Amino acid sequence: MKTVKVSVVTPDGPVYDSEVEMVSTKAKSGELGILPGHIPLVAPLAISAVRLKKGGNTDFVAVSGGFLEVRPDQVTILAQTAELASDIDVERALRAKERAEQRMQEQRAEHTDFRRAELALQRAINRLAVSEKKL
Ligand code: ATP
Repeated sequence: MKTVKVSVVTPDGPVYDSEVEMVSTKAKSGELGILPGHIPLVAPLAISAVRLKKGGNTDFVAVSGGFLEVRPDQVTILAQTAELASDIDVERALRAKERAEQRMQEQRAEHTDFRRAELALQRAINRLAVSEKKL
């Protein structure tokens, strides 16, 4: 089985490094599936899950935006934040979700703080989904 090297990197350091058979994630333009030998590509990512298929297993990483860069032998994901499913603190994500929902109720939809709360809610929901490996 052919593989491609994948690195997920954040400003705090590397989060994931492995040879995988397929990378699936959500770019701002839609779902992306990357196999070894994919043509070079740079795409902005949504707040989403990165699924990394290898040897019958799939690793899940939650990312909050950033960029995906595909080169012939290497896929690099540069994300603002990234957590492996097993490193996600579920209680913390639940608290962040509640806080964000509360803020959205207090703000008008066009307000900057509403948009900020909406993004915080998306990050929390994404982390909860990835922690359950449901994406
Ligand atoms: P919170 O309000 O709980 O900090 P947040 O969405 O505002 O959530 P971020 O700014 O996206 O947090 O992330 C700050 C740092 O905390 C990053 O290093 C991120 O990986 C980590 N982080 C945030 N939430 C969690 C979580 N639920 N489990 C593990 N790490 C987390």
